[in-house]
This record gives sequence, structure tokens and C-alpha cells, in this order.
Amino acid sequence: TMKSEAKTVIIGGGIIGLSIAYNLAKLGESEIVVLEKGYLGNGSTFRCGTGIRQQFGDEANIRMMKRSVELWKGLKEELGMDVEFTQSGYLFLIYDEEELETFKNNVRLQNRFGVPSRIITPEEAKEIVPPLNTDGVIAAAWNHTDGKANPFKAVFAYANAAKRLGVEIYEYTEAKDIKVEDGKIKAVVTNRGEIRTGRVINAANAWAPIINKMAGVPINIPIEPYKHQGVKTEPIKPGQIEPMVISFKHGGVYLTQEANQGGVIGGYGLKYGPTYDITPTYEFLRGVSYRFSQIIPALKYVNVIRIWAGYYAETPDHNAAIGRINEIDEFYIAAGFSGHGFMLAPVVGEALAELIVDGKTNKPLDFYDPYRFERGELRGRALQMG
Ligand code: FAD
Repeated sequence: TMKSEAKTVIIGGGIIGLSIAYNLAKLGESEIVVLEKGYLGNGSTFRCGTGIRQQFGDEANIRMMKRSVELWKGLKEELGMDVEFTQSGYLFLIYDEEELETFKNNVRLQNRFGVPSRIITPEEAKEIVPPLNTDGVIAAAWNHTDGKANPFKAVFAYANAAKRLGVEIYEYTEAKDIKVEDGKIKAVVTNRGEIRTGRVINAANAWAPIINKMAGVPINIPIEPYKHQGVKTEPIKPGQIEPMVISFKHGGVYLTQEANQGGVIGGYGLKYGPTYDITPTYEFLRGVSYRFSQIIPALKYVNVIRIWAGYYAETPDHNAAIGRINEIDEFYIAAGFSGHGFMLAPVVGEALAELIVDGKTNKPLDFYDPYRFERGELRGRALQMG
């Protein structure tokens, strides 16, 4: 049976909602409920490319990701379960002077905030990834403290740790409506009954606009679902492609070898939408196979075992909307992660919990101000790859 009353109702059982739930409980909040309309992780989180990087092109995302990586490093101990986080690095292949200039600027900014990225030669890149095709590569941007983790384990680690702190998680429970009176939240209506509550956190990512509408959020927060796909190959010899390797020159292809299972996982920039359809396409299978073998020619001989699709919940500047909605008392949003919400989840949970409990946070959440769209103050577009 479901609780009929809670202090906080979080809508969305992806890694963002679960990280927020865990962090709120850690700060001493009680009576927290997470509602998930399917099973945990079934939205975008289980469909992601596993990548975790600090190589962004703006101060806020670099600082947020620097903290997030510190948290990822400690998650095994903190949550009591190995989430297979490995610092195997991110390697961006650079093919011309213009790209080189951009990456040099980004590296300079990253270094200023303590991220040890640097520009390396094609020969050094090949030492890091032995089967790499360096034809036409003039340099690479490399950061050895970036990495990857297992999204399945990360979801269960957060969920179990949250439960141990008293959080109640209801799967197959869909928020259908939100009752608001005089700017105050009264209840969340679900397919399994009503929960009286005074606080709602919208962590529904691709579905966030639907939740905003239920609550009557009076401002425009443009988030649209785009179909992106992923691929996984049969296992290859361990240690061949340890970092996430990325090439914008090849359609935004990204790929990495899983730390434990040995398959190569990745995707490229092909997108469809806005749409809620997530049927995988043959166009993707062909396109990704071609691009993988351009970067790593030996992959021509490796079989694909699976393709799948999920959502990038996109905003116009490819940065999420995170914060309080002033017109509705105790309504918060953390959604629209535009293809990089997995990596941000630990720090977003920490920062939003601090904002809610302490009324402030030392993380640069202002950057993700949900009101910026209304004001026409878009941020520089965040780098969207993996
Ligand atoms: P979700 O996991 O989608 O969770 C939202 C949940 O809300 C869903 O489970 C949904 O069922 C639930 N929900 C919706 N409506 C309701 C309702 N009315 N009631 C109850 N529950 C509801 N990110 C990275 O950081 N690194 C990567 O390498 C990366 N690669 C990606 C590759 C692909 C192919 C895709 C598709 C995404 C990738 N991403 C990556 C993005 C990442 O998957 C997302 O940003 C992240 O999972 C967002 O987490 P979330 O919890 O906000 O969303």
C-alpha cells in the first residue's frame, strides 16, 4: 500500500530523482516519496552511453562536473555498492586548426578550475588507444580524470541507499495530476490514489513539461524529447578502448569499451524528433557501424549485439532547468538534461538538496535557472556529446 501523506514527492525514478531523494534524506529530511511510472531507470538513464566528463566549455558545467567526479569516486563507499566508476579518460580527436583553437580554449578554462585536461599529439593518442585510426588527426584533447560508470548499478545503488534512509519508492505509479490551491501544493494524484504533500520535485526529464502543466507552472520551460540511439558490440580483448573516444568530424561519434564486460558501447549525433517514439532504426545501425570503423578500423570485424533508443530531453541551450518555481510554493524542477544528466546526477542531487534544506548552495545552480528562457538569456550551448 502507498502512503497517503508525504513531506516531499519526487516525480521520476531516473538517476536524477533518485540522487535528489538520497541527498535530501542524507541531509535529514524524512517522509520522502519517489514516484516512477515504469520501473526505475527505464526512462533515459538505462539507455545512456555511460560517459562522465569534465571537459565542458563553460565555467558552470566544469565546476559542477569537477564536484560530480569527486562524488562518483566516493559513491562505492558512500552508497555501499560498486557502480563500476572508472577514470579511464575522455579523448576528443581533433582534425583541423579551428577545432584545435576551440579545444585549446576549453582546456585553458578547464585547467583554471583544476581539471587536468591537455592537448596531446596523435602519437600519444595512439598509445592510449592502440587500435585508433589517426589518419588526419592533428591533435587530441585528453583528460585522464574523466570516465564512465554502470547506469544500472548506479540507479540501484542510489535507490537502495535512499531506502535505507527511509525513502519510499513506488514503481509503476504514475503522477496524473497535481492539486495546487492559492499557490500551495496540496496533493499529487496517481493511478494508485492520492498523496497529500506540500512539496513536489519534477525529475521527469523528457516528460517534465507534462508535470509542469499538471501543477500549472506559469513560465515557459522549453524541454523537448529527441530520440537518440546507442549500440553495444560483442566483447573484445580487454583494455583496447579504455577512454571515451569522440570525433565531431565523424558525425559526433563516441565510443568506449565497457570496463567489466568488454563490449564496445557508443553512438553518434543522429537524432529524431521531438518525439516520444523510441523505436531503434536501421539508419542508426548502419551509420554507427560505419563511423565506429572509421575511428577504430578493427571494429569492422566485430558483431553488434544490441541497439536501443532513448531520449535527450533538450532545452534550447542544452543545459538543464534546475531550481525553484517561485509562483508555486515548494515546487522544484531538475530536468532537461540534454544528453548529459547521468554524469551530473551526483552533484545535482547534492546541490538541489542543499538549496531545499539550507536555502542555499555553493554550486553554480544559477546557471541552470529555469527562468532564463522566459528572460531570453540563453547560456552558451553546452557540449552535448556523451
Ligand atoms: P530519466 O532517467 O528519463 O528519468 C525520468 C523518469 O521519470 C522516467 O523513468 C519516467 O518513467 C519517469 N516519469 C515520467 N513521467 C512520470 C509521471 N507522470 N509519473 C511518474 N514517473 C514519471 N548522459 C550522460 O551523462 N553521459 C552519457 O554518456 C549519456 N549518453 C546518452 C546516450 C543516449 C543514447 C541517451 C538516450 C542518453 C544519454 N545520456 C547520457 C543522457 C542521460 O541518459 C540522461 O540525461 C539522464 O539519464 C537523465 O536522468 P533523469 O533521471 O533526469 O531522466
